[in-house]
Amino acid sequence: MSQLLRFDELSLSQEVQQAVTDMGFETASPIQSEAIPFILEGRDVIGQAQTGTGKTAAFGIPMIEKIIPFEKSVQGLILCPTRELAVQVTEEIKKLSKYKKGVWVTTVYGGDSIERQIKSLKAGANIVVGTPGRVIDLIERRALKLENVKMAVLDEADEMLDMGFREDIESILEETNVDRQTIFFSATMSKPIMALTTRYQNDPKLVKVVKNEITNVNIEQLYYDVKGRAKMEVTTRLMDFYGLKLVLVFCNQKKRVDEVVEELQLRGYAAEGLHGDLRQQQRNNVLAKFRAGQVSVLVATDVAARGLDVENVDAVFNYDIPLDEEYYVHRIGRTGRAGKTGKAFTLVVGPERNRLREIMNYTKVKIDKGVIPTFSDVVGVKKGMFIERVRAAVEEGDLELFNDVLDNLHHAGLSTEQVVSALVKMNMGVVKNEFGDENLSGDDRRNDRFGRDGGRDSGRDSRGGGRFERGGRSDYGRSDDRGGDRRGSGRFEPRDGGRRSDSNSAPRYEDRERGPRTDKAGKPYKKDPGMVRMFVNIGASEKISPANIVGAFAGETGMPGNVIGQIDIFDKYSFVDVPKEYAPAVLDRMAGATIKGRRVNVEVSKPS
Ligand code: AMP
Repeated sequence: MSQLLRFDELSLSQEVQQAVTDMGFETASPIQSEAIPFILEGRDVIGQAQTGTGKTAAFGIPMIEKIIPFEKSVQGLILCPTRELAVQVTEEIKKLSKYKKGVWVTTVYGGDSIERQIKSLKAGANIVVGTPGRVIDLIERRALKLENVKMAVLDEADEMLDMGFREDIESILEETNVDRQTIFFSATMSKPIMALTTRYQNDPKLVKVVKNEITNVNIEQLYYDVKGRAKMEVTTRLMDFYGLKLVLVFCNQKKRVDEVVEELQLRGYAAEGLHGDLRQQQRNNVLAKFRAGQVSVLVATDVAARGLDVENVDAVFNYDIPLDEEYYVHRIGRTGRAGKTGKAFTLVVGPERNRLREIMNYTKVKIDKGVIPTFSDVVGVKKGMFIERVRAAVEEGDLELFNDVLDNLHHAGLSTEQVVSALVKMNMGVVKNEFGDENLSGDDRRNDRFGRDGGRDSGRDSRGGGRFERGGRSDYGRSDDRGGDRRGSGRFEPRDGGRRSDSNSAPRYEDRERGPRTDKAGKPYKKDPGMVRMFVNIGASEKISPANIVGAFAGETGMPGNVIGQIDIFDKYSFVDVPKEYAPAVLDRMAGATIKGRRVNVEVSKPS
């Protein structure tokens, strides 16, 4: 593996170090390890890396470090080919600069109110992320002044050139200070890029990650196109379907490791996490349990799994697609050892398919597309295993002690069939949850718009916040720990995989006068005639979840939580469908009630 640096080896400020820790980054990714030291040094850099490698932080971290805080002029400029990338880069920079007071970032792109953008520039943004066309417009309107820019970044420079932005880019760079530092990031190094380099960079350092290991052949490699929110469901289905006993699950961040472990444990799997925060002793304990088979699923980051040498690992899951091709090789090399065969499953969400292609190019191995097992496939396999276990227990004997149980159950009015079926169900641990077979895959374009939790959101009409759908089984109790059987329990999750829209993408407030016409995907909201749509003036920005809303509505009015219909949570407000007969009670009892400690106002949403 390339020489990876810990973030504390990169001479970062306390504030950025803390932000990176909060984001769950364990070490700098290869492109970050290569690029950050040079950029911090003040060198011009050409970074050859695509999305998904951590390139944003590679230029974002040094830019944040170099901004003079509280100085209200544009010091850092990042040009991106698309509005979606600009928004994504801005979000990452906001997270990275969370503790840096006086670093202000704003985004400017076409298709959105220029006045609002002018206002945010006037407010004193010192980092501007934008698309070339809008940047030019703002320069022409004298709303954007670039003479104090100390660092200019062209992100996805090759894309921008392909999209015909060369002249715009040149005009923009001409506006900046000649002493600026210039950074290009590009997936490819074409002639036009080199021409731009010669013209605008000063003795640039080319950084790219050198790879040198190739994949093991004993491993069956498959990928699954999934929705972001269905990753856990698909993972557990695959584990059950293939009867995997020892499994390694790889995630990109520590935080993610903890989340995945918790979810797996809730679903009844013996899972433990391995990441850099563990002390040596804890790490040894976890590994010993994994080797002994007491822990069957080990969830790890790339760094924590270094040096991990466990035989008989049945499968490796790339729960998150790796940040680097070489990580892929390292990850899957943990299975298929000592002449045995192993499996490597990679979950791919939306645009991560491009990263998968890169991995295939690098490893020169075609990774086939796998078919997600259906619920009945999984049940079928589990039934077979159950029958085997029963047969083995009968063969083992010593059953006399339990002979009277069936009689007692008959006395209690249960038939033998009922008893057996109940025992099978209890034993197999398969519980139907909100995931139908049809809503796991991220294959089609419609599905792509939901459920992605990584990569770029290509949806043009990204208005709206998270939409939540209520499954058959109400589960809001789980958030306040009232869940009974927690295995495989359904859970409300945002259909956009938890990505909250920023205020740009949420419908504007005026829309509420008409009621929401569309959902996040721009599909019209379908009114249920038996329901009344309520407007509540609290939303995602208050970190509100459907469980909070259901809890408050049901708690205040006494109506059963499971009769509440569709809940759409937007940035600043939400819509909740309640059955007509409960509407008066909701209006009455919710007047002045609080949700998450905030006094709320509930009204009937105006019809569209
Ligand atoms: P990017 O290539 O910038 O689009 O980043 C891809 C994803 O990796 C983003 O979700 C980042 O937050 C995440 N990421 C960036 N750097 C690291 C790191 N050093 N460790 C783990 N995740 C990272």
